Amino acid sequence: MLASASTSPPMLPPLYGRWISDLLGGPLPEEQAATCSDCVQCQSHVPEGYRFADATKCCTYVPALPNFLVGGGLKAGSLAGRERLLRRMAAQPDSITPHGLDATDDERDRYRDILAAEQFGRDPSLFCPYYLAEAGGLCGVWRNRNGICATWYCKHDRGARGQRFWQALEVLLTAVERELSHWCACTILLKRPRRPRAARPRGAGGRAARATSSAAAPSSSKRSAGPKYRP
Ligand code: SF4
Ligand code: SF4
Repeated sequence: MLASASTSPPMLPPLYGRWISDLLGGPLPEEQAATCSDCVQCQSHVPEGYRFADATKCCTYVPALPNFLVGGGLKAGSLAGRERLLRRMAAQPDSITPHGLDATDDERDRYRDILAAEQFGRDPSLFCPYYLAEAGGLCGVWRNRNGICATWYCKHDRGARGQRFWQALEVLLTAVERELSHWCACTILLKRPRRPRAARPRGAGGRAARATSSAAAPSSSKRSAGPKYRP
C-alpha cells in the first residue's frame, strides 16, 4: 500500500520484514501490479466509479499506529513523517493512548460511512493524517506503517492465493501489534515511578506529559486499563 520516497520499497516495514523473513525463510516476493508510486487505481482507464482520487489513493482511512511504531517513526522516520506524527498528536490529543496513536470514534464512523457508500479511495473528506499529498501521494510513515497498511494491495500478482496470504498476514501482524503494544505499555507502566500530582505540568504543553504520566497509573485512566488499541 502506497510508496515511500525510496525507489524500491521493500514489501514490509523493516521490523516486520525481519520477523516474516525469519518465519518464512526469506523475503516476500513483490506485488508488481499494484504500482503505488504511479497508482494503478488512479489511472484514466479505470472506469469512473472505480477510479481512486489522486488526492487520497487508497488512504481514505486513519490507521491506528501501535506505540512501538510511533516511537520508531519519531526516532528515525523522515522529517515529513515526524512532522505528521507530531501534528496528529497536537490536533487530536484524544487519539493518544498508552497503546499508540489511535483513530478517533468520529474517524471510525466516517470510515464506515465511506465503505457503506462505496467511496473508499474516492472520498477526500477522510484521509490518513500521514499521507503526503504534496509529495505526490507518499506514505509519511512508510517504514513504520501498521500491519493493515503493510498488507493491503489493490491487486495481487498471484490472484486469490496472494490475496489470502496478505489477509492472513494482516491478521497475524495485527495480533502481534495488539499484544506487543500492550506489553510495551505495561512495561512502562510498571517501571516508571509516578510523579506527584501537583508537580505535573498544566495546559496544552502538559497534555502530552500527562498522557505519559497516566501510563504510570493504570487505575487512573480507562485508556490504560487494557488493550483499547483497535487497528
Ligand atoms: S490503490 Fe493500489 S496501486 Fe494505488 S497506492 Fe493503493 S495499493 Fe498502491
Ligand atoms: S499510514 Fe501510509 S499507507 Fe497507511 S493509510 Fe496512511 S499514508 Fe496510507
